[in-house]
Amino acid sequence: MTLSRIHYTKPSIGLLEQRYASDAVANGWGERCYEYISKFEQAFRDHLGTKHAIATSSCTGAMHMGLAALGIGPGDEVIIGDINWIASAAPILYLGAKPNLVDVLDDTWCIDPDAVVDAITPRTKAIVAVHVYGNLCNMDRLRQIAEDHGLALIEDAAEAIGSMWHGRRAGSMGTFGTFSFHGTKTVTTGEGGMFVTNDTDLYERVLTLSNHGRSRNQTKQFWPDLLGYKYKISNVQAAIGCAQMERVEELIAGKRRIFEYYRDRFEGLPLRMNPEPDGTQNSYWMPTIVVDEDVPFSRERLLQDFQSNSIDGRVFFWPLSLLPMFHGYSKNPVSHSLYARAINLPTYHDIRDDELDRVIEVVASQFL
Ligand SMILES: *Cc1c(COP(=O)(O)O)cnc(C)c1O
Repeated sequence: MTLSRIHYTKPSIGLLEQRYASDAVANGWGERCYEYISKFEQAFRDHLGTKHAIATSSCTGAMHMGLAALGIGPGDEVIIGDINWIASAAPILYLGAKPNLVDVLDDTWCIDPDAVVDAITPRTKAIVAVHVYGNLCNMDRLRQIAEDHGLALIEDAAEAIGSMWHGRRAGSMGTFGTFSFHGTKTVTTGEGGMFVTNDTDLYERVLTLSNHGRSRNQTKQFWPDLLGYKYKISNVQAAIGCAQMERVEELIAGKRRIFEYYRDRFEGLPLRMNPEPDGTQNSYWMPTIVVDEDVPFSRERLLQDFQSNSIDGRVFFWPLSLLPMFHGYSKNPVSHSLYARAINLPTYHDIRDDELDRVIEVVASQFL
């Protein structure tokens, strides 16, 4: 018998997504070419409770434009956690600014507020708070630090749609927030992203930047007022996004159900998973295990055992300070201790219990 392949993630695409996408393909042209884009942005604003939302072709693009609109450039520093995907840091480098990589907390794997305070210099302009794997950064502390030092606080909520910090949604609490709808994310459009903010001036600047620098008040045709970018989403992608937003609570609930299934069965093993501190809700984009420090464990062996059982494993993010583009950066101790003991587990809407049981069995076998 051949085992079914267990992917580490897969989107949940149903008839509603197909219906809206077909409609966009058949009818979403000419006068109607922005219809789904506007609806998608409206659905996102409604969900998050922010004043403004701009759909983009990626989260990376949304971050790039947001940082540019804040005027961040050469000579400036932006503080960001060492455990992260490159996409959150790359736009800082695109703009010629310097990412200042600081350590993360051992329990949330998100940026350590004390390390942020220590890293602030007269050149610091912003803090990028990334809600890693659905876990939340300590937003109360970060907001206070940003306020005390006159810094922008940016939330990369690409992995945290559905996560809540004391009643407020991830992505809605900072100077601006960004989201990704890449095919691996909880809400997907294949590729896509969103810029959100409550700051109307910032929104207007990003809107102009997003349209090749053409201000919406400019009456002259094809007249860019400044050098901008082209990071737009298509109407067809936005149609898929509209369907996903109608199902967003169901998609988040699916992620939580899978996490809880793992968590309940891993009880007693020498490992920790994504935390959910009091007053918060974790949307558990990626159920993740971190093996206790004093326990023998090989990430490579687990990945091999997954492979021989037709399970796709996914490594925890490498510390950015290990990557070639950050050569010479100092190694943050918590980040460098975490990654080798950690792994993401498969999670998708239609994964079956017997498939989850196969994953659980392989994980448990590492500690026999
Ligand atoms: C996926 C992801 C991104 C990149 O999103 P794209 O839409 O692929 O640009 C950025 N930040 C985080 C935290 C992510 O998980």
